[in-house]
Amino acid sequence: MPSSLGYAASAADAALAPISFDRREPGADEVLIEIEYCGVCHSDLHQARDEWHNTLYPCVPGHEIIGTVTARGDAVSKFSVGDKVGVGCLVDSCGSCENCHDGLEQFCDKGMTGTYNGRLPDGTHTFGGYSQRMTVKQDYVLRLPDGMDPAGAAPLLCAGITTYSPLRHWKVGPGQRVGVVGLGGLGHMGVKLAAAMGAEVVLFTTSPGKAEDAKRLGASAVVISKDRDQMKAMRGKLDFILNTVAASHNLDPFLDCLKRDGTMVMVGVPEVAHPSPSVGRLIGRRRSLAGSLIGGIAETQEMLDFCGEHGLLSDIEIIPMDGINAAYERMLKGDVKYRFVVDMATLK
Ligand code: NAP
Ligand code: ZN
Repeated sequence: MPSSLGYAASAADAALAPISFDRREPGADEVLIEIEYCGVCHSDLHQARDEWHNTLYPCVPGHEIIGTVTARGDAVSKFSVGDKVGVGCLVDSCGSCENCHDGLEQFCDKGMTGTYNGRLPDGTHTFGGYSQRMTVKQDYVLRLPDGMDPAGAAPLLCAGITTYSPLRHWKVGPGQRVGVVGLGGLGHMGVKLAAAMGAEVVLFTTSPGKAEDAKRLGASAVVISKDRDQMKAMRGKLDFILNTVAASHNLDPFLDCLKRDGTMVMVGVPEVAHPSPSVGRLIGRRRSLAGSLIGGIAETQEMLDFCGEHGLLSDIEIIPMDGINAAYERMLKGDVKYRFVVDMATLK
């Protein structure tokens, strides 16, 4: 059995530390992937610290994975040894319910199997990409477009698809003014993708120092969300808002910025619930508040191909595996430009 080193949290209040475990031998329809880069998502931190109250320990996070296929089962037809591939947030689903049938495996009726913290039939649970290698069913593996930078591509597997999917579902495009709330890992991809889809993008941030970057990434305007006058000036001006904030906050000032029939989609999953919305904000302009969860496998491939065509990558800071605990502290301060990516060659 292939063994792997990894980094794991052993308890909610424990720092991540080295761990050693076995990966399964690839089955007939599975590939073994040597991991090269893994992005650091805020969900990794929520999960490692049990902020969602469902963590299975030891917890090896990581679901923005890029690597190379090094072995494959006899029935694998989609990938060959040497292929550059990606793995995102899910590695299995029932494959037969209506949602799986529609390519929306993230909403599988029987529950998708997460890349980490996913329960397995034998009572164990999945370990994610903060590790040297992993075995994955070919149907849950993505193909990296030719020539795409592997480190900058890693965050596309979660931050990319989580922002691409709602932008597509709510048909964001030319002629629309779209708000993105929070310039972190998800938010910076939201700005790039919405701009590439042809929308005019307004970035809402709590960090005035990020304004210049937001414009470089594709925003045409920046609103400092703690500034009441700036928020007031944006009232009723937006068709759609993508809210990526990882902490509990008042949603009402953002709902005020939507036009009649506008929608704000929540993708952030804070530890503590938001104190809002007020129904008045919604009924007054027939506004909607909605949510979205990552994206299906086919749509993730579509997103990778879209990024390939448009030359989009994540803005990253590469870190060594033993820098993960310091990276988490910086992420909590909003001090990431704009995604940490672990160089897995540093895990020895
Ligand atoms: P991140 O890199 O930490 O970015 C979050 C951003 O939110 C920060 O950079 C900051 O931006 C803003 N922010 C933080 N605290 C805030 C506060 N108290 N008030 C207002 N703004 C605040 O996190 P991420 O990796 O992008 O993830 C964001 C959230 O999405 C997390 O909760 C994560 O678990 C969730 N997520 C959901 C899905 C899904 O499928 N729905 C997928 C992946 C991640 P500014 O400095 O610009 O204000
Ligand atoms: Zn994620």
